Amino acid sequence: MKFGTYLFEAKKVPGFDFDLFRVKPEVGRRLPPIADMYSNIAIFGDNVTARNHPDWISQSPLGPAWRTNDNFNVRWDILCATQPEHRAEQLDYIEDVSKHSPGIWLNSIHFADHGHCTCARCNELWKKSGLSWFEWRRKEVTNYIAQIRERVKNELVIGLLPDPVNSYERFGINFDDLAPYADAFNVVMFSKNYATPWYWEMLCRAFKKLLKKPVYVSFYVFGPGDNPAEVPAPSELVTLSVRAGRTGIDGILYLADKASQIWDFQKAVVDRVELRQKLKTYGCQEVLDFFASWEKVVE
Ligand SMILES: [Zn+2]
Repeated sequence: MKFGTYLFEAKKVPGFDFDLFRVKPEVGRRLPPIADMYSNIAIFGDNVTARNHPDWISQSPLGPAWRTNDNFNVRWDILCATQPEHRAEQLDYIEDVSKHSPGIWLNSIHFADHGHCTCARCNELWKKSGLSWFEWRRKEVTNYIAQIRERVKNELVIGLLPDPVNSYERFGINFDDLAPYADAFNVVMFSKNYATPWYWEMLCRAFKKLLKKPVYVSFYVFGPGDNPAEVPAPSELVTLSVRAGRTGIDGILYLADKASQIWDFQKAVVDRVELRQKLKTYGCQEVLDFFASWEKVVE
């Protein structure tokens, strides 16, 4: 297994195999890539572009994909996945970022959710395709990823939302279509608490079974603007990591706003001596060895 940070700040943290920097998160702001951090780019979830081009927002029978539309689990504004100017601009942007960092980890590569997108252009493209609605969406998503693959000469990792069953109907994603273009997949499993690790362990097993490339999962440590009393307890993350690790996944990333929050997390994990001892019978010594390696890092 490999272990990485997943940071909104351009700062590496000692004690990890690699670091991923949120060059362009879904809020749409862009920061320069870092030569020794992988670059995370959200494509269609993009509040800044949605504000500048409100007519590019994804449409559906249940309304547009503004983050205020409670019919969907949209946490940010999501653009139509066939908007040609945005697609072209993002291709150039992704290529440029890839040249200034070791590789690209993508988020938000797909249609907003079920029923999207019903804008005039999408309706026309769908009818012209002669395909079913779902198959047309699948083709749009896959073809765009193929175009991105041609532009990215180094590592390309495709981010997925944690739905192993309905990603095709909801987002236009076919896992097998995307596997040839991906060096790995990253399934984001963000939550403000992990009190019941059983569910996350099940999702890890499901994705490991389905995906034909290495599987990373990303866990939530501390998000921008979070109240410290409302983030996952370090002990939950320790248990969760061991239980995820024993499913055979290939790596874990830890999300935080600042590098210092990862540092605090490392110190807290090192302090959880009894818990780490108790987890020795859980069947994933590799994760425990990784946590133990921090004893030297945080000294
Ligand atoms: Zn559309």
